[in-house]
Amino acid sequence: MSVEALWVALALYLIRMWAITAGYHRYFSHRSYRTSRLFQFLLAFLGQTSAQRGVIWWAAVHRHHHLYSDTPQDVHSPRQHGFFYAHVGWIFNPSNLKPDYGTVRDLTRYPELRLLNRLTYAPAFLLAIALWLWGGWPMLVVGFFWSTVVLYHCTFFINSLAHASGRQRYVTGDDSRNNWFLALLTLGEGWHNNHHHYQSSTRQGFRWYEVDVSFYVLKAMSWLHLVWSLRAPPEAVVRGEVPVGRKVLEKVARDLAGSFSAEAIAGRVKEAWAESHRFEDLAERARRARSQVEARLAEVSLPHLPTIPELREKAEEMFSETPSLDDIVRRAHELLAQAVASRVCDLALAGA
Ligand SMILES: [Zn+2]
Ligand SMILES: [Zn+2]
Repeated sequence: MSVEALWVALALYLIRMWAITAGYHRYFSHRSYRTSRLFQFLLAFLGQTSAQRGVIWWAAVHRHHHLYSDTPQDVHSPRQHGFFYAHVGWIFNPSNLKPDYGTVRDLTRYPELRLLNRLTYAPAFLLAIALWLWGGWPMLVVGFFWSTVVLYHCTFFINSLAHASGRQRYVTGDDSRNNWFLALLTLGEGWHNNHHHYQSSTRQGFRWYEVDVSFYVLKAMSWLHLVWSLRAPPEAVVRGEVPVGRKVLEKVARDLAGSFSAEAIAGRVKEAWAESHRFEDLAERARRARSQVEARLAEVSLPHLPTIPELREKAEEMFSETPSLDDIVRRAHELLAQAVASRVCDLALAGA
């Protein structure tokens, strides 16, 4: 193994990691800045030398990830499928070979991108051949294969580790995290909680000390007019002062309500009810109109239900500070009341 081949491996790692983060991710998946049609093609071509499948495939899979982050539909969520499947296993699942191309019509309208996407491994093959012609086996094995494999794993860490280890500055309704070590390894992608918080920003390190090399390179390129219209997060977004959206609020409130056992609370409610009411009354009610009972139980304040301040305390443990915390807590209280009421109905019917 030659030292030269190692340097080439390192250089190819950095160049192609940049092509993946600045190209595949921030440009093709999120359209967070603009560029010319020629430079767009070069970015896609350079990205495809990483052998991470076609540019349109990658963007489609990634947009799907943001739509369903850490829900059962997410194709690579450590919460849903475990760490190793989220890291590399999902790649080998044939059902992920054909993502929903309906979400990437802005890309499929370019015939040159469609062609490149079809010639999935051609750019990587050309790079490998060029390295082999230049430096023989050491250049092919170390320069190409070693750097490609390391590049695979560091890219995959964003799907696995950046959804499992690190800090959550913002409430995003998923497990995305900020991880400074991954940010260094991946030229800025490790600020993944920032990214899930405000996806359309070109810059992912929101604070000056959050190193984001991909962005620095893009910024320098913007001075040369190779790229332009780089997007930045509004100050209020960076400070976390913007209320979360309806979908995130619902998801987070469900997580919060789900952290209490409706089953155990329902058991206590049933016992307490039996002390002061005839049990058949409840069973009868449940039979007549289960939904009415749910509504009624949700209306009256069940003494066994965690109070709003208790839920708030738990929410503060579970989530970062957000202006939506009160809304999340109120919604979680509602959901928990419904879940408990529903379990009480079950118990009443089972006991009748
Ligand atoms: Zn993204
Ligand atoms: Zn993510």
